[in-house]
Amino acid sequence: CKIDYQAPAELLKDRIILVTGAGNGIGRAAALAYASHGATVILLGRTTSRLEEVYDAIEAAGGPQPAIYPLDFEGATPEDYRHMAETLDQEFGRLDGLLHNAGILGRITPFEQYNPELWQQVMQINLNGPVMMTQALLPLLKAADQASVIFTSSGVGHKGRAFWGAYAVSKAATENFVEVLADELENTSRIRINSINPGATRTAMRQTAFPGEDPQTLLAPEDIMPSYLWLMGPDSEGHSGEHFEAQPPRNQ
Ligand code: NDP
Repeated sequence: CKIDYQAPAELLKDRIILVTGAGNGIGRAAALAYASHGATVILLGRTTSRLEEVYDAIEAAGGPQPAIYPLDFEGATPEDYRHMAETLDQEFGRLDGLLHNAGILGRITPFEQYNPELWQQVMQINLNGPVMMTQALLPLLKAADQASVIFTSSGVGHKGRAFWGAYAVSKAATENFVEVLADELENTSRIRINSINPGATRTAMRQTAFPGEDPQTLLAPEDIMPSYLWLMGPDSEGHSGEHFEAQPPRNQ
């Protein structure tokens, strides 16, 4: 856990970093944090109006001009990811960082009642879409001097828990995929692949999962950004195939 990390102001200067789910919650905070440390951020998400709001916030703060890439992981195909790679190649020629943050909770419900369509949807948005996007973006990541790819896990990705269904399974598979790809890329490229578990954080998703909880008892997305900056920047070089916690453990 690197919550006490103090990122140098120019940590990510001139880096091109794509953040998924950048319109709100943790992804919004990460996009703003990366931009304020010098990165040109590509804001990817489902709801364009939210991405535009983050774009404006970055510009207002004097950050490098960001880019917007609207995409819904639910319907996106390998062809869409190829097109994305071509567009980013023409625009930037490389990708220095990729934060896979977008995700959905699905439903907290006994497995016996889990809707099969919802199961597929969660696996598509949380796992299959991000994995296929990563495949298409590999050439661009290889074109960077040193690229950091971060996937987002969860406590229930380390150890399954009753009623968490497809969400828990998608996060466990995400951690395994991090190990698969990091192992493959070791020694053959300068791309490193890790996962981060934000831990209980004050967002819409957390509120849906724990409706009775007082959000003020939780850390805000901004509070956990030191860990996100450390893992994206050069101070974490040498780490790959590992799973990190963004904040110290709490009771649940
Ligand atoms: P939010 O629900 O606040 O934000 C999720 C983001 O993902 C939104 O920007 C949303 O876009 C985007 N998204 C959802 N579905 C799609 C889709 N089909 N295509 C593209 N983008 C999509 O969640 P958090 O900020 O809380 O979570 C961020 C990550 O952290 C997730 O991976 C989550 O699993 C993980 N996490 C969060 C914890 C917490 O306590 N908050 C704890 C552990 C893990 P839109 O604006 O359109 O809805």
